[in-house]
Amino acid sequence: MPLVSMRQLLDEAAKGGYGVGAFNVNDMEQIQAIMEAAKQTNSPVIIQASRGARAFAQDNYLYHLMLAAAELYPEIPLAMHLDHGNSFETCKSAIELGFTSVMMDGSLKADGKTPATFEENVAVTKQVVDFAHERGITVEGEIGVLGGVEDGHGAGGSGLEHVTDPDQAVEFAEKTGVDALAIAIGTSHGAYKFSKKPDGSVLKMDILLAIHKRLPKTHLVMHGSSSVPKDLQDVINRYGGKLKETWGVPVEEIQLGIRNGVRKINVDTDNRLAITGAIRKVLWETPEKFDPRDYLKPAREAMQKVVALRMTQFGQAGHAGDYKAVSIAEIAQGYKDGSLSTKPLVADK
Ligand SMILES: [Zn+2]
Repeated sequence: MPLVSMRQLLDEAAKGGYGVGAFNVNDMEQIQAIMEAAKQTNSPVIIQASRGARAFAQDNYLYHLMLAAAELYPEIPLAMHLDHGNSFETCKSAIELGFTSVMMDGSLKADGKTPATFEENVAVTKQVVDFAHERGITVEGEIGVLGGVEDGHGAGGSGLEHVTDPDQAVEFAEKTGVDALAIAIGTSHGAYKFSKKPDGSVLKMDILLAIHKRLPKTHLVMHGSSSVPKDLQDVINRYGGKLKETWGVPVEEIQLGIRNGVRKINVDTDNRLAITGAIRKVLWETPEKFDPRDYLKPAREAMQKVVALRMTQFGQAGHAGDYKAVSIAEIAQGYKDGSLSTKPLVADK
């Protein structure tokens, strides 16, 4: 299957009532792990690259690795997404390269750290939507500010300092026409999300429900949604690592979100933990080894295991064959004639 529109992938997820994991990549092994997990579970999938990943790997390597994935797994719907674009130029360059979806995170200024005003956010996001939709490319926006920092991006602090205001979310979606909307409902980026065991009410479900009710066609996105499982932390620490005890977002809470309009769930930290644990184990147990394949292969397998598990938990497993790819040109036409509009059906207050 060629690279598909993320909008199509999320529309299908909404129809089927499931969520789709968006997994971050920086290199070939991570892309391979995700695609093997997608094949294993028969899942549609979103692969995303942050600005940090693009700087690390270079755009052309990333793009051609994604094309290889699409070529090797024709049965898997695959969307290629830019995570946390910080400016119109960053989004434009990703679209021109061939990404089928971009995130314009206008909740922060272009420095990726300072919270922006609502008006600034609307203006830059609308500019990206106009450019992207004309070309059939999906846009994710963000309203409210997530906690934590990842890849040098983020305002820091806890996930509860800038929780999304539902009225603002509706106004933002109406003014920009974004396809998907990242909302701040208590989650944070990075491994250190919660310093004590979450008690089953990590997510601000009332906010999620209020937004979904008023924006039924806008796909909601959860960032900072790794579960940071203890067994993955333990492997790292058993083989010489020094992670401090930490807790992520319990999978049951993500599933509750999925039942209430969350369609895209970003996962990065869990895969980082799995990879690092597997590499540490090999190097610790067999210090005489020096062939990178001796630790990259187990690392890739460890990540595949985590991704396959999330695909099953999010409900996307089994849905790869539900639909055929709509061409990006047809998607562009849908934006033009209004059939892909996400304007709220009822703007009740
Ligand atoms: Zn994020």
